[in-house]
Amino acid sequence: MFPLKQKHSFAVDVNAKQVIEIDSIGALQSLVWKNDTYILGEGTNTIFTEDFNGQLIINRLSGIEIKESETGWHVYAAAGENWHKLVVKLIGLGIYGSENLALIPGSVGAAPVQNIGAYGVEVATFIDRVEVYDCKLHVQTTLSHEECEFAYRDSIFKRPAHWHWFITGVHFFFPKAWQAVLGYPDLASLASDATAEQIMSHVIKIRQQKLPDPARVPNAGSFFKNPVIPQADCQRLQADFPGIPVFLQANGECKLAAAWLIDKAGLKSLSVGGAAVHERQALVLVNRNNASGADILSLAEHIQTNVRERYGVELEPEVRLLNDYGLIYS
Ligand code: NAP
Repeated sequence: MFPLKQKHSFAVDVNAKQVIEIDSIGALQSLVWKNDTYILGEGTNTIFTEDFNGQLIINRLSGIEIKESETGWHVYAAAGENWHKLVVKLIGLGIYGSENLALIPGSVGAAPVQNIGAYGVEVATFIDRVEVYDCKLHVQTTLSHEECEFAYRDSIFKRPAHWHWFITGVHFFFPKAWQAVLGYPDLASLASDATAEQIMSHVIKIRQQKLPDPARVPNAGSFFKNPVIPQADCQRLQADFPGIPVFLQANGECKLAAAWLIDKAGLKSLSVGGAAVHERQALVLVNRNNASGADILSLAEHIQTNVRERYGVELEPEVRLLNDYGLIYS
């Protein structure tokens, strides 16, 4: 058995039956895909709720290549590279665009899966194409930006039909024509001519203040997605809950802040066993004291039930929860 406590940032003390680390495409060629195989990057968005009896494969592919063109930079990063280190490297080289996405935990390969986003910027904006290895057919393919079907915290890589695709690397394009994105309240204190370096430093500072460091307080970042609901439902909520933050989407729907819903439902200090709602950011659940998988699931269910009864809104997990065999929810 292989201990998983150090392999995922929520640090539940469970084991896996089999772990295979992939550091070359060659290692993928000999892999036999099974129904219980699960691909893991840095484990910052996955929670193992019990011993995992399947085959766990961990992405350790490394390497970064950068080519300059007249209009921008073509950047290729292998999927096992750390996302934040890539951001720091790019900003240091004068390649701008990813500064708002600094300090998001996880690997480069995980970034397109849930189309990571922060402070008004989504990674999809800079993704030109994604390279995948089909572990069933044993062929390598490239998906264009359009084929990735990027949406809010979503992509084709989340669909169960494609879980056997192992992302090997991501091709980005960062245009030289750069413009700062400063629309979010947390960035309002920055000057309108702030540089990408200043934005990155500010984002790092804010995130360090607001979010618990997984190395000290184990967590998996945002536990739930921000719900997106029809406008009519939103108007009903605005009448019932004056002051509720609402963000109108391009398609006419409304995005709600899940953290606000949880906080105002009085759930901020809630805990079940060793699992708790973080006191500074209600969207983050933490492993306060040797939480078991059952503690986490029970806490999450309690929050979902409360939010449903109070607001009539469904909270969906953003994290990937696994039981002994595979995904409970993705
Ligand atoms: P925040 O700034 O306190 O805002 C609360 C929520 O309101 C956010 O979730 C954000 O939605 C939304 N929001 C705020 N201003 C907005 C605007 N001008 N337009 C549209 N939506 C707006 O949020 P926070 O928890 O401290 O997080 C800061 C940023 O980091 C957010 O963008 C958050 O999504 C991001 N973050 C991302 C991840 C991840 O990718 N897994 C994890 C942690 C934090 P959005 O979430 O849609 O931006």
